Amino acid sequence: MLRPFPLVGDRMENGIVLVTGGSRGIGAAIARMAAARGHAVLINYNSNVAAAEAVCAEIAAAGGRAEAVAGDVSVEADVDAMFAAADRMGRLIGLVNNAGVVDVAARVEDFDLARLQRMFGINVYGTVLCSGRAVRRMSSRHGGQGGSIVNITSVAAKLGSPGVFVDYAAAKGAIDSFTVGLALEVVREGIRVNAVRPGIIDTDIHASAGDPDRAHRLGPDLPMPRPGTADEVAEAVMWLMSDAARYSTGTVIDVTGGRGIVP
Ligand code: NAP
Repeated sequence: MLRPFPLVGDRMENGIVLVTGGSRGIGAAIARMAAARGHAVLINYNSNVAAAEAVCAEIAAAGGRAEAVAGDVSVEADVDAMFAAADRMGRLIGLVNNAGVVDVAARVEDFDLARLQRMFGINVYGTVLCSGRAVRRMSSRHGGQGGSIVNITSVAAKLGSPGVFVDYAAAKGAIDSFTVGLALEVVREGIRVNAVRPGIIDTDIHASAGDPDRAHRLGPDLPMPRPGTADEVAEAVMWLMSDAARYSTGTVIDVTGGRGIVP
């Protein structure tokens, strides 16, 4: 059996890390942190090219290596193009399935199929499609040399998000199950699969749900009375990807300031 591939602390020549949705928010923090630890980073984004290029420029200015690749993780041809870009950069050793979306707050009787297809397409299909492409490259079963996958789920998977977005919570619940299943599917092939479960984090995702003040409005009522930061989520991702976590697979780390830890 291959040892889980050591990631953090390796030289960038040893391989690259692909961060989906790496251009803004939590993904951008993960990309910056991975680059600062010496990894070449491929930053996927959907439409905001300026944000992606700004993160690449920041990484380059700090002496790191980063490239951006456009693509919708829910579109198979885009996923293939994204992984082809990764192949051109080097050997893929890390994938962070971070790209995700919410929608405006609504009750279940107001959901239509288009909303659900977007919600599950990006959050669930995207994660599964990208993971499959990564496994083809990393798994010893396919001649690969191992790697690490980290999925970004949400405390919504535990709380269910009633009256807000039960569809988002259900999609993240699917990510939790997928993390366990994939971890065991590839555990003897040199790949570890883990997840990070953020609580309320201060990013633009709340504005995209039509509620830009959500994090700061809810923050004071959280067990730790503030929203989390993207960097605080990225730190957990770095640990899970690193060789320090070499005996951990199928694990989900809560980064919620205590939200959702009591059933
Ligand atoms: P964000 O600030 O809205 O950033 C989303 C990122 O995903 C952007 O880089 C965006 O690129 C990209 N993206 C969106 N749709 C995409 C698609 N179809 N294909 C590829 N990339 C796509 O979000 P965030 O708050 O950082 O959230 C990141 C992850 O953490 C998500 O999975 C989210 O569900 C999870 N999470 C967030 C919170 C929170 O409170 N913020 C809490 C729990 C979990 P463009 O700019 O080009 O669209």
